[in-house]
Amino acid sequence: MTVALLPASFDPITCGHVDIILRAARLFDRLIVAVHASPKKSLLFSVEERVAMVRESLADLESVEVVSYEGLTVHLAARLGATVLVRGLRAVSDFESEFQQAALNRRMLPGLEVVCMFASVEYSAVSSSLIKEIAQGGGDVTDLVPTPVAARLRERLESRIASVSGR
Ligand code: ADP
Repeated sequence: MTVALLPASFDPITCGHVDIILRAARLFDRLIVAVHASPKKSLLFSVEERVAMVRESLADLESVEVVSYEGLTVHLAARLGATVLVRGLRAVSDFESEFQQAALNRRMLPGLEVVCMFASVEYSAVSSSLIKEIAQGGGDVTDLVPTPVAARLRERLESRIASVSGR
């Protein structure tokens, strides 16, 4: 039985992530989606909110498990008995960092295989950071994120505007 781990920050989960998750779920016996609690980047959502959005977005996919974690992905993989790490590749710009991470992860956990899947064309330009930028600027992202995420983005940004304007 092959257990695969799909780690990311998911701040927030996008349709690009969901696409990769659906496709990976067909390839492995067990797929665990892992939400990195404290990645080295500024976050819009807490880990609890990010996990909740991933769960809500994957509600129809009973075979996929969702966990959160701190620390190194390889330590989580070893703990869960995962032998495959799944990553998405959007453009050449993703390649270098994925290549570096894969080499170091395999050095830390020999036997680990890193499987990179190409993003679907319709989502190849979608990233969590651009989604946040567009939403914060008042743009429409409803086609690019799962419905529960669109609602939470609206809520979060409305409450920010309210707190800035003292409403
Ligand atoms: P991280 O901070 O770990 O890079 P992300 O959530 O931005 O977190 O991305 C995690 C993984 O998901 C990466 O492998 C990335 O390439 C992949 N990914 C992100 N957006 C997309 C997308 N639109 N299509 C396919 N893969 C994606």
